[in-house]
Amino acid sequence: MKKSLVILGAGYAGLMTAVKLEEHTRNRDDVEIILVDRNDYHQYVHLAYEIVTNVKKISDITIPMTELLKNRRIRFKQATVNEIDLTNKTVKTDKGDVPYFELVIALGSEPNFYGIKGAEEHSTRFNSVESAAKIRDQLKKIISQVKNPNIIIGGGGFTGVELAGEILDEYRCCVTIVEGADHLLPSWNNPEFSKKVADVLIEMGAKLLLDKFIAEVNPDSIVLKDGTQIAASLFVWTAGVQASTVIKKSGLKTGKSGRALINEFCEAVDNPGVYVIGDSALVIDPATNDILPQCIEIALQQADAVAKNLKADLEGAQKTVYRPKFNGLVLAVGEKFGVGKIYGVVVEGRLALMVKRLIHLRYVYEVAGLREVFKETL
Ligand SMILES: Cc1cc2nc3c(=O)[nH]c(=O)nc-3n(C[C@H](O)[C@H](O)[C@H](O)COP(=O)(O)OP(=O)(O)OC[C@H]3O[C@@H](n4cnc5c(N)ncnc54)[C@H](O)[C@@H]3O)c2cc1C
Repeated sequence: MKKSLVILGAGYAGLMTAVKLEEHTRNRDDVEIILVDRNDYHQYVHLAYEIVTNVKKISDITIPMTELLKNRRIRFKQATVNEIDLTNKTVKTDKGDVPYFELVIALGSEPNFYGIKGAEEHSTRFNSVESAAKIRDQLKKIISQVKNPNIIIGGGGFTGVELAGEILDEYRCCVTIVEGADHLLPSWNNPEFSKKVADVLIEMGAKLLLDKFIAEVNPDSIVLKDGTQIAASLFVWTAGVQASTVIKKSGLKTGKSGRALINEFCEAVDNPGVYVIGDSALVIDPATNDILPQCIEIALQQADAVAKNLKADLEGAQKTVYRPKFNGLVLAVGEKFGVGKIYGVVVEGRLALMVKRLIHLRYVYEVAGLREVFKETL
């Protein structure tokens, strides 16, 4: 019987773990790697906003698993994970049970609607290339049919701001951002960036409703906590995310936003041999005790550490302690303005957009290799 190393999720964290683990275990015939995802492709989800305005097609930012796993000893199973039976070491999916010897959970995140009335039923999500394509189609219809459309984005964080910038650039229609904090990008903790981004968005025609909470979402309007009702041709929810609910359902210990509590090896606490990485895990900077943002850089770092630790488990060797290193993020506001801090250096304007593009190419290289980088740059 081969030892099944099962990886759930083929996003940044899961795919990279599978690829690195395959490299570490190439000479072992007693091991099989199984990668499970509901989709048969990997997506560059951080470019999803470019789908909304047709700058990119879905095929530009997705890569089929068959292509990615060609010549690799990784078995791919397309299935939706429902729950993990930790006692019997079995993953329950819509396509049957998958027993495991050791497990990596990298199922990403899901929207969190915080129980706001009507939010789940009446808002459009923006968390994948598929949801971006849905927004693109809805927008096209609205712009051609509605005289004065009002596109409302719930949440002025990173995702909401990038989406707003892209829509304003392309359609110049009214975009309203509703944000509970009194400034945009609250999790960034950089008042200077928040102000700059707010100024750029206002200049582009956005309306910012700051320090406002959404109490209710209806099919064609939203209601704020102070009772104000605002008509919405389209309402997009970007205001909250939580870890994949499979984590909680399976009985793993969780912290903020349902993210799994992990130890210094990225193992779920109290569950040796079950690793949780990427957006599904609560990652704390040991130097500052701050919770680190859910981002690609951390997902890739954890994948590297966990692939090494799985190898160490197989060999009975010492595991590697994962030390998170967050080097910063760059944000795009439409096609002309960007801002961010990377390796301690502030970048702004078109330079920031160039840096963002370079960061993307580095991701492409890490995930899919040089051939894909060439394809993207030609
Ligand atoms: C619109 C948008 C823009 C972003 N921009 C940036 C950016 O510019 N920079 C940055 O660093 N980060 C960005 N992020 C965040 C970044 O994408 C995530 O932090 C990163 O993808 C986390 O990797 P992951 O592997 O944990 O999750 P994901 O990449 O989300 O992968 C999870 C995988 O699990 C699969 N899956 C989920 N549930 C199930 C299930 N039940 N059964 C089977 N399969 C399942 C999904 O199909 C997916 O393939 C952005 C996110 C979004 C949504």
